[in-house]
Amino acid sequence: MLKAITNLLEWLFTPFENFVRKYILYPFHWLLTKVDPLSYKVEGTLFKKILQYSLYPIFMTLTIVIGFEMVEGGYTVRTFFGTIIMFLIFGFIFAPLERLIPYSRKWLNDSETTTDIMLFFGGKFWGDYINAPLKLATIALVVQEISPEIGQDIWPTSLHPVLQVFLLLCVKDFFRYWYHRWMHENEFMWRWHSVHHSSKRLYWFNGTRSHPLEGLVSSFLWAIPFAFIKAPVEIVFVTGLLGRTIGRFQHTNLDVILGPFDYIFSSPKNHRYHHQKNIEEGNSNYGGDVIIWDLLFGTFYLPKGKKPSDDIGVDLPNYPNTFAGLMMAPFNYHKIKRESLNPEPPDVADPEAISEAGKQVLAGK
Ligand SMILES: [Zn+2]
Ligand SMILES: [Zn+2]
Repeated sequence: MLKAITNLLEWLFTPFENFVRKYILYPFHWLLTKVDPLSYKVEGTLFKKILQYSLYPIFMTLTIVIGFEMVEGGYTVRTFFGTIIMFLIFGFIFAPLERLIPYSRKWLNDSETTTDIMLFFGGKFWGDYINAPLKLATIALVVQEISPEIGQDIWPTSLHPVLQVFLLLCVKDFFRYWYHRWMHENEFMWRWHSVHHSSKRLYWFNGTRSHPLEGLVSSFLWAIPFAFIKAPVEIVFVTGLLGRTIGRFQHTNLDVILGPFDYIFSSPKNHRYHHQKNIEEGNSNYGGDVIIWDLLFGTFYLPKGKKPSDDIGVDLPNYPNTFAGLMMAPFNYHKIKRESLNPEPPDVADPEAISEAGKQVLAGK
């Protein structure tokens, strides 16, 4: 039955995936490769150093300034087209910059991008028409039906608006932290979240790679604390925008240097450790926007004098990589795992005989 559904989805989506690859990705890719010769020229220059140190603070400041300007102009709701435009702007800036100063040249290979584009639109459609109404309905239910008064005066509206944004970022991330940690530590939850970790490269766009059902549960869960907190709508809007910028940097292939920001935000460097294949390093740095909860709850991992490896992903060789395959992966997870493992039963007397994938299974993934 599952096999038949997977085949049907492959039949439906593969032609579309090929179309996107041929007519959207290839022309864009051809343009981007024109930056490659420059990337060797800027190696070791002061210009590169300036970019490495300045890009993060510039983008973060710009997001806050533009966000509050938009609020002044009356925009407080994120729309479908607004999100698409925002991603296009990010794309036109991040994609060439990643080729100019890449962290890993291996990650410039864009064989996964088509699938990510499909996942973005699929996730966006699902998010706007299913997750968001469910979240709003939950908030309305909690606020109107269950507790109209609760949380009325909790939010410190007298604080400077920028501080309110950072406060909301931290509060929001407290719930995100525990949900994310649960998805890594519980095998049933990992089935869904492994879709996000299936990426073999990190770049500005693949933060959107996730299974829609993962978002469904989290939207519902986060709606409850949101309903109680009652932060002003402008603060929620700017916090959301800032979260988008943090998300692009978190997965970027830019060779940026953040310094102290690595200890405050979920940054490219600490998130690269989170995407490692081995669970000793991967089960760390769960923060989505900030990293303070990891520091507090003992899951922060950022060894000094070391660089995160660019060999990342799910340690199961048979893990799918097409849109349809990824949609079905949580349902087929046991089969994928079984087929990925060494078919020869390992000699239990010799721990070296157990494959990396086998170790993950024994560790509960
Ligand atoms: Zn994760
Ligand atoms: Zn990630």
